[in-house]
Amino acid sequence: MAGYFEEMGWRELADGEQPDHLLHMARFLVDFGLYEDNFSGEWPRLPPPAAKEAVENLPEVTLEEGSKDCPICLKKYNPGDKAKKMPCNHLFHSTCILTWLGKTNSCPFCRYELPTDHKGYEAFKKEKKRAEQRKEDLDTLHNSMFS
Ligand SMILES: [Zn+2]
Ligand SMILES: [Zn+2]
Repeated sequence: MAGYFEEMGWRELADGEQPDHLLHMARFLVDFGLYEDNFSGEWPRLPPPAAKEAVENLPEVTLEEGSKDCPICLKKYNPGDKAKKMPCNHLFHSTCILTWLGKTNSCPFCRYELPTDHKGYEAFKKEKKRAEQRKEDLDTLHNSMFS
């Protein structure tokens, strides 16, 4: 059986080396095609909550004219309401976005992602980026060979 694992690029850990279980899991999921289309796929569940620190660092603004609706609660903004500004510049009532970010990490409007405290998800995102890079490299190679 050792041959099989060696073929898969697995090796025994050196003395004192700790296995990176989360990274392994992320690779495993990718290698086994659990994400459709080599990674146009998404995290299989709702992404985890935003990191506390990222949420605390969101700037708070006081709204002026109540012209738009809050995309979360669909109520009109009232002048003087407190709102949080996401890095993507979208505004939400502070209470609405704080509740939202306690459940998942992305802007409800444009899906801009805040960092999370979830190690597995962060490993997944890194791996996803790497897969996209790999695909780009292959496309470039393909184009330079066939065009
Ligand atoms: Zn709201
Ligand atoms: Zn946004």
